[in-house]
Amino acid sequence: MNNKQIPYKIYLEESELPKQWYNVRADMKNKPAPLLDPNTRQPMTVEGLSEVFCTELARQELNETDAYIDIPQEIVDFYKMYRPSPLVRAYCLEKALDTPAHIYYKFEGNNTSGSHKLNSAIAQAYYAKQQGLKGVTTETGAGQWGTALSMASAYFGLDCKVFMVKCSYEQKPHRREVMRTYGASVTPSPSETTEVGRKILEEFPGTSGSLGCAISEAVEAATSREGYRYVLGSVLNQVLLHQTVIGLEAMSACDKYDIKPDVIIGCAGGGSNLGGLISPFMGRKLRGEADYEFIAVEPSSCPTLTRGKYVYDYCDTGKVCPLAKMYTLGSGFIPAASHAGGLRYHGMSSVLSQLYDDGLMKAVSVKQTEVFEAAQKFARVEGILPAPESSHAIKVAMDEAIKCKETGEEKTILFGLTGTGYFDMVSYQKFNDGIMSDYVPTDEEIANALAKCPDF
Ligand SMILES: *Cc1c(COP(=O)(O)O)cnc(C)c1O
Repeated sequence: MNNKQIPYKIYLEESELPKQWYNVRADMKNKPAPLLDPNTRQPMTVEGLSEVFCTELARQELNETDAYIDIPQEIVDFYKMYRPSPLVRAYCLEKALDTPAHIYYKFEGNNTSGSHKLNSAIAQAYYAKQQGLKGVTTETGAGQWGTALSMASAYFGLDCKVFMVKCSYEQKPHRREVMRTYGASVTPSPSETTEVGRKILEEFPGTSGSLGCAISEAVEAATSREGYRYVLGSVLNQVLLHQTVIGLEAMSACDKYDIKPDVIIGCAGGGSNLGGLISPFMGRKLRGEADYEFIAVEPSSCPTLTRGKYVYDYCDTGKVCPLAKMYTLGSGFIPAASHAGGLRYHGMSSVLSQLYDDGLMKAVSVKQTEVFEAAQKFARVEGILPAPESSHAIKVAMDEAIKCKETGEEKTILFGLTGTGYFDMVSYQKFNDGIMSDYVPTDEEIANALAKCPDF
C-alpha cells in the first residue's frame, strides 16, 4: 500500500505510449509448443505461414527470442486516436463492496469498435498494407473483431471480407451495419461462397454456424484470391503481442503511482486481452523481479482451461489451419449459445496454455447469470455498461475484493475491462427479464469432443 493520492483515472501522456510491444515468449523457460503443418506435422516455417498470413506477422508469430519488437510509427499514430486508455481506480465499487481492497481496471472500451480488438486489428491491417496487399479476410463471432478490423481496413484503404457466424449475423444486425459502414463486406457463415462452407452446409443443413467454421471459410477466401491474406483476432502469438500495449500502459501507470497489484485478472476467450494485460507483469515474475497472482476467467459454458486438455488440436472446423498445442475442448466442441460470444472459442492461446500448465497462472470458470449480476452492480456504481465478456473479470475481481473484506487483507486488484456492452442489450434484456439460463456441458460432451483431437 502506498500513501500517494491516487486519482480516479490515471492517464499517461501521449509521449508515454509504448513504442515497442513486449514478447513474453523471450522470457519463458518453457516455450509454447510450435505450430505444426496439418499435413506433414512438421513445425511451421515463416514461408509456410506466409501463404496464409502477412509475412511480417508470420515472423512475429514464430519469434520467441526478441523480448521487444518496435511498433511502427504509423501504428503508434493510430493508437494516439484512442490511447493511452485510462487505468481507473474503482473507488465507487470499493465503497459499494465495503472492502479494504484497492481495485483498478484498465478500460479498453473507449473506441468505436468498443473493445481492445482494435489494438491488433490496426497492426494487422498495417502489415497487410505494407506488403502491398489488396485486402484481408477474417471471421467474426459476436462481431467485435469484425468491427475492429473494418475500422482498421478503412484507415489503410484495404478491402475487408468478414465471415460472420450465421446466428450472430441474424441476431446482431447493428454490428453488421457498423462493419458495412466502414466498408467491409459481411457474409453469413457457413455460406455457399466457399468450398468448405458448401461442404459444411451439406453435412449440417440449417446449422447456425460456429467460429471454427467461419475461420475455415475466411482462410479459403484468402488463399483462393490473389493479393489477400487471412487475419485472426485472438489466440495467435502475434495478436497477444499487439495486445501488450494494454499491459505496458497499465504497468507504466502503476509504476508512476507506486501501485503494486497483488492479483491481476482478465477474461479469457482466445486469450489475447488477458495475455496482453499480464505479459509485462509476467515478464517481471519470470525474471524474478516481482510476484503476482494471475487469474484467467472463462465461462462455465466453454471451460477451456479448467476442463479442457493440453494437447495438439485443430484450430478450425475445416482443419485447414496449422495444428496448435493448447488447452482445448476439441475443435468439434460447439458451446451452448451464450451471451458472451467473444468467449466461445474451443481453444486457448498457446502462450497462456503453457503458462497455465507451468502453474504460473490460475483459471476459474463462472456462470453467466452470476456474471450479469456482477455487470449490473458494476454498471450502477462505476457508470460503465460493461461487455458480457469483460464482466467475467468483474465478477472474479468482486469475489476477490469480498474475500479481502472477510480476511481484512488490503490487496491490490487489477483487472481488464475489455469493452462496452452497448451491442449486447438483447443479453441484458434476458437477464433483466429473469429468463437467462446457465448451461454447463457434461463430462461426456467434453470427452466426446476431445476424442476427436488428432492422435499424437
Ligand atoms: C473478443 C473479446 C474478448 C475475448 O477475446 P480474447 O482474445 O480472449 O481477449 C473479451 N472481451 C471483449 C469485449 C471482446 O470483444
